[in-house]
Amino acid sequence: MTVPSEAVPTGGKPADLPRRDHFINGERVAPAEGEYFESVNPTHGTAFYEAARGSAADVDRAVTAAQQAFENPAWRDLSQTRRGRLLRRLGDLIGENAESLARTETLDNGKLLREMRAQLAALPEYFYYFAGLADKIHGEVIPGSARSLLNYTLREPVGVCGAITPWNSPLMLTTTKLAPALAAGNTMVVKPSEHTSASLLALAELLDGAGFPPGVVNVVTGFGAEAGGALVADRRVRKMSFTGSTATGAVIARACGERFVKATLELGGKSPNIVFPDADIASASMGIVAGIFAAAGQTCVAGSRVFVHRDVYDETVERVAERARTIRIGDPLEPGTELGPLAMASQLAKVEEYVAVGRKEGGQVVTGGTRAEVGLSGYFYEPTVFVGTDNGMRISREEIFGPVASIMPFETEEEVARLANDTDYGLAAGVWTRDLGRAHRMASVLEAGTVWVNTYRAMSPMSPRSGFKNSGMGVEHGTETIKEYTRLKSVWVNTSDEPQGDPFVLRSQ
Ligand code: NAD
Repeated sequence: MTVPSEAVPTGGKPADLPRRDHFINGERVAPAEGEYFESVNPTHGTAFYEAARGSAADVDRAVTAAQQAFENPAWRDLSQTRRGRLLRRLGDLIGENAESLARTETLDNGKLLREMRAQLAALPEYFYYFAGLADKIHGEVIPGSARSLLNYTLREPVGVCGAITPWNSPLMLTTTKLAPALAAGNTMVVKPSEHTSASLLALAELLDGAGFPPGVVNVVTGFGAEAGGALVADRRVRKMSFTGSTATGAVIARACGERFVKATLELGGKSPNIVFPDADIASASMGIVAGIFAAAGQTCVAGSRVFVHRDVYDETVERVAERARTIRIGDPLEPGTELGPLAMASQLAKVEEYVAVGRKEGGQVVTGGTRAEVGLSGYFYEPTVFVGTDNGMRISREEIFGPVASIMPFETEEEVARLANDTDYGLAAGVWTRDLGRAHRMASVLEAGTVWVNTYRAMSPMSPRSGFKNSGMGVEHGTETIKEYTRLKSVWVNTSDEPQGDPFVLRSQ
């Protein structure tokens, strides 16, 4: 089973763009309202396909399919080991199609093909990991004193799950929801970002070949409040998982709260990347570059607030600026490119606005600070380094989601711990030091779901990811995430032949 990648746009907008429909109950389904919207390639600024514009009617149809699939014995009664086998097969098929899926993602969001290839090559591992967990999900017997009472728990799937995902790593951030949800026996309706519909629709084509019954996974494309809002509001959806901005996360959390639906939220960040004077400065400087300029800063864990000890401040700023000046900007499909475009025109406008704000607040731009001229008509911006900023300025407090770093000096460990934690967010943090004690002290005091020491952006399906404070709630990856997709039932069984005792006295072990 192979899925082709989307075609590379070659100039102006063609008269007839290819159309991509929803994927519901194992089939491509045209939108109920008959409307489509364009997906734009950010390298050329040109539309290259149209996706179905999902409405409440489409979501209703997809949730109905997911509900029926949840009750279908072909899925419900499948042994957990066999469920794992389907996940493993899906991982294999994704591996076989990794190249075309990676190209489609690059065409849709402008991230480097190199990076998307690496992500897609790693993606099967996520399915294998959760495949392995599928038959290790179970309740337990609760020990008690009364021999005539048996108490045990059942860890059950919750039912139909909804997932809403962003554009920056479309398949990876869907997989972190889909794989554990399926491993636990649920069914799912996914609403991908309106900017990147194609790769998930292509992945959906592989489900049948992997052996999943129709309706177990459904994809409704479309806009946030319209299609996403309808999914969150559907009373049959018993669990929501969302990755995206903190503002949207708050809307979804409120809607879930009103009907007591569990929500896993992976939200924004303003992560500190901290360099102590005893660090390997060459390596730390590259860690800063990786933290903020990889993916053009469009990662939730972007190390956008850089704190550098005053003793090594000038040297570090110079090294980072020097590397930033030599970053090769251009077409993300080209193997030598290091920085592609921003994913959409509105992202470019947002970055420009924040750079203007930073300048107005008194920050000085050491390098960058302007659009990049690369001979392509897409949304390119130069890697930008600010100095002269402080932790109270807007560019230090608000998520920019672009290639903009503020490098700020500090003097003591206590001071930098306070500054690093002085943020509404708590997603990730980096620490660069050769002092073992300091590394662990910092890991302990930093208020962030992930702390990296002498590295940045490492991740694995085995390692839990969570956001503290406004960066989210719940856990993705690792065994812990299975709890997000299951509910616990406590069962009591009277094993004695004795008749029911005094009805007015509580029976306890
Ligand atoms: P976004 O919040 O604008 O959109 C995310 C998704 O939510 C999209 O599918 C969108 O259509 C949908 N949506 C928007 N409004 C909605 C509504 N009212 N109801 C239901 N759904 C709605 O975010 P984005 O711009 O696509 O992604 C970038 C953001 O995602 C950044 O803030 C980034 O930090 C965050 N992010 C977080 C992680 C993480 O793991 N914590 C990973 C990647 C990205």
